Amino acid sequence: MDYATINGVVQAVNLTKQLAKAAFDGKVDADAKAKIGEVVEKLGDVQDRMFNLRNDLHELQTERDELKTKLDAADAWERRASNYNLTQTLGGAVVYSSKGDPIHYACPSCFNKREIHPLQDNRTVSGKFRCTGCAAEFPVKPKHKVTAVPTTHHWND
Ligand SMILES: [Zn+2]
Repeated sequence: MDYATINGVVQAVNLTKQLAKAAFDGKVDADAKAKIGEVVEKLGDVQDRMFNLRNDLHELQTERDELKTKLDAADAWERRASNYNLTQTLGGAVVYSSKGDPIHYACPSCFNKREIHPLQDNRTVSGKFRCTGCAAEFPVKPKHKVTAVPTTHHWND
């Protein structure tokens, strides 16, 4: 049942109620008046139920629209998330890795909040990358070995 159907029934009930009231106000005997009175009362009940039905329908439609919006958002996220795999990097970090170009890593904490923040290279010897979303750092690359630069002293030159 949709709004148009319910509104149609509400109008039909209103019209019938008016007709019954007109008959009630007309010249009819007491018996008929009692019966018409009953009819008017019953029509009142029907009206109340139709109003409730209309409210229920409105609530259900609102709920359905909200669920559809949530479902669409979930679908969109699933499509985005399917482009990533959980992986362990050479530095030992467990992060999400993109399947397509440009290859990048994504923050697992933000990923769990349905946000994708590509990790940025700190360009330090620690090999850490940072998340621009939550500022967490991950040891993506192995640590660089600091190689001592040989120095030559020529004391006696
Ligand atoms: Zn993050």
